[in-house]
Amino acid sequence: MSIQPTTFTEDQSGAVCPSCGSSDIGMARVRSAFFHDDRLVVIEEIPALVCASCNDQFYDDRTVVALDLLRGEGFPSENARSEIRVPVFSFPNAVAVEADE
Ligand SMILES: [Zn+2]
Repeated sequence: MSIQPTTFTEDQSGAVCPSCGSSDIGMARVRSAFFHDDRLVVIEEIPALVCASCNDQFYDDRTVVALDLLRGEGFPSENARSEIRVPVFSFPNAVAVEADE
């Protein structure tokens, strides 16, 4: 999963969803996970615009810049609020196991 570079340049009040055209958009705090080099990092409480019609999420310009700055810092572990263990699956292995049984 990667950060979608979609941005809103308009005022939020005049914003419409680029995916479905709905103007029913509200602010929410979202959690997003993405790979940075070989590490999976999670960022919580990202301010996002969420379309009530199609559930697409978008970040405004300021948030995109802030996320880019975080990425530029390389997500140092000492700045992390917490760490989680993440199970990793291999899709071909998982499918083969299913097919054998
Ligand atoms: Zn939408």
